[in-house]
Amino acid sequence: MLTAEWTGGCLSGALRYRAEGEPLLQGFCHCRACQRISGSGHIGFICFPESAVTLQGETRSYSLTGGSGRPATRYFCPTCHSGVFARAEVMPGQINLYAGSLDDLAQFKPQIAIFVRSRPAWDDVSRDLVCYETVPGQ
Ligand SMILES: [Zn+2]
Ligand SMILES: [Zn+2]
Repeated sequence: MLTAEWTGGCLSGALRYRAEGEPLLQGFCHCRACQRISGSGHIGFICFPESAVTLQGETRSYSLTGGSGRPATRYFCPTCHSGVFARAEVMPGQINLYAGSLDDLAQFKPQIAIFVRSRPAWDDVSRDLVCYETVPGQ
């Protein structure tokens, strides 16, 4: 069987990634931080074990307290400032790639939506998915 390969990166091409295998989780995050960073109602995320992801290029990052109340770190390209991925302290050893940065957008198969308590009425993208007010298990 062929191993799935996922590639993508920022707008300028200076920050690239490659992931192998099946994601642990795919979905949309409607938290206020994702909305402000993206300028939209959500960010699509694809969660992989860190060991499955290879990065190429420099990153800039900063940490903010996320919806979980624990720090989440977001990573950007220093050249074009695109947000490309994030790590959350509540999800150790995992990396969330932003779906919009994929080379092949059709690979993204969202299954869940988190932080739908912040989802605006005009954002219909996740209505038919399994929705969580915050995150699963809370
Ligand atoms: Zn860039
Ligand atoms: Zn979010």
